[in-house]
Amino acid sequence: MSISVKNVSKLYGTQRALDKVSFEIGKGEIVGFLGPNGAGKSTMMKIITSFIPPTEGDVSVCGLDIWNDSLALREKVGYLSEANPLYYDMYVREFLEFIAGIHQLKDKKSAVKKIIKLTGLEPEMHKKIGALSRGYKQRVGLAQAMIHDPEVLILDEPTTGLDPNQLVEIRELIKKSGKTKTVLLSTHIMQEVEAVCDRIIIINKGKIVADAKIEEIRKMTEKMGFKRQEERTTNLEMEELFHQLTRN
Ligand code: ADP
Ligand code: MG
Repeated sequence: MSISVKNVSKLYGTQRALDKVSFEIGKGEIVGFLGPNGAGKSTMMKIITSFIPPTEGDVSVCGLDIWNDSLALREKVGYLSEANPLYYDMYVREFLEFIAGIHQLKDKKSAVKKIIKLTGLEPEMHKKIGALSRGYKQRVGLAQAMIHDPEVLILDEPTTGLDPNQLVEIRELIKKSGKTKTVLLSTHIMQEVEAVCDRIIIINKGKIVADAKIEEIRKMTEKMGFKRQEERTTNLEMEELFHQLTRN
């Protein structure tokens, strides 16, 4: 298993942000992580990346466990956090070389060159990060997440706030990366799930309420008695499933 989450709970003070969450993600899967704002998605992602510890439970990534192998685990993971924190005063290439240094990559220059090409940053690579459009900033965020060629990518709302063109481009990039990597990405866009993911996990108030492959969603929605229309697309069904499972 690439990612294994067992009985994970997280308390912030007295608030239970995650409540006994368990799931496993196999190598090469692209999984969409859905749920209303405040459901616990970012918290779960921060725990998987070893950014914060859970209150209880176990997590391992590529067989490395958060409690005993946290540093080795971080080498296997690329993380684009929700806020996409970047140093706006740094130039694109300078920033990526800095990140390559943090990862102690042997050949920093060639790693930077490769990731700039992969993420389509070439036209803007001489600019300061602060001068980039939101779409290009997001590419820099993805580049820093992937520069060390991690086996697992954790992407927290990677397409939020992008225009329709940027959205398609970033999606394509994620899909391309997903051919060789395991990806967990959170999103609010149902089309995105259909376009990019093999499977979805829906979380509500800290609990998993659905975990199914995309093709199983149709069967689930049938069982739940949704009215089916011939022209109905899967993403509308997913939306309805999402409402049903997370409205209270
Ligand atoms: P999502 O990413 O699904 O929107 P989050 O994981 O960010 O959800 O948040 C889950 C819940 O935990 C929310 O109610 C949020 O306010 C709370 N929360 C998140 N981070 C903290 C924190 N550092 N301290 C206190 N509460 C937090
Ligand atoms: Mg979040």
